[in-house]
Amino acid sequence: MFFLYPLFAEIFEWLSDGVGYLYRRRISRHEKEILNTRFPYYQRLNEKHKAEFVGKLELILTKKTFVGRGGIEVVSQEMEMLIGATIVMVTFGWKQIRLPHFSKILIYPNTYYSSITKSYHRGEVNPKYGIIVVSWACFLDGLKDNQDGINLGIHEIAHALKLENQIYYNGESEFFNPEAWRAYQELVGPEIEKIKNGNSSILRESAGFNEHEFFAVALENFFERPQLFFDYHPKMYGLLVQLLRQDPRIWLR
Ligand SMILES: [Zn+2]
Repeated sequence: MFFLYPLFAEIFEWLSDGVGYLYRRRISRHEKEILNTRFPYYQRLNEKHKAEFVGKLELILTKKTFVGRGGIEVVSQEMEMLIGATIVMVTFGWKQIRLPHFSKILIYPNTYYSSITKSYHRGEVNPKYGIIVVSWACFLDGLKDNQDGINLGIHEIAHALKLENQIYYNGESEFFNPEAWRAYQELVGPEIEKIKNGNSSILRESAGFNEHEFFAVALENFFERPQLFFDYHPKMYGLLVQLLRQDPRIWLR
């Protein structure tokens, strides 16, 4: 019986993606142009990987709902393409990871007031309701300079990725290599201490708040200035390569 399991898994995968395939949100030529001109990660891929990227993005757009808030009445193609592409980029190392728990993306025009924290936010993730929230102005700001290690989209999606890995009630959990994750976590504490003590680190101050912020800021740097990150902490960078199953330094060669 056990040998049938892979077959069932295949069928399940086909059904969940297959339904998506039949009703898949197709990406138009114009939308591909947005990726080609605005999203450096996509620009650098070869044709085969570009096709894979577009296929994954179509599934992301089919399965997630994008909702405008705070005066955004229509979610533009540009918003869907660039936010969706950031999800695909962060998860590109896996064939199947699409963060299903986070099915809703809320987009505010700018920083927004949270009545819970009584402060203005640039973005957040809400694991309880499976929502990722971004301020569009801050998201675009993050894209403008793609080598400064500051990117709101990557930051929020990194939070979602880490949470998804720890959420056990769907098919996508514990996808981080457990040894690499353990080894990575051992390095985090001393780095946070270093930042808190004001010692120089390539990761900005907010990485020192806690391990969640550390991971999110680390991923911003991993994708935006991988060589600098590697030179700063080769061991941690290497473990992130193992965890995310990709090495952004290849673009620099
Ligand atoms: Zn954060």
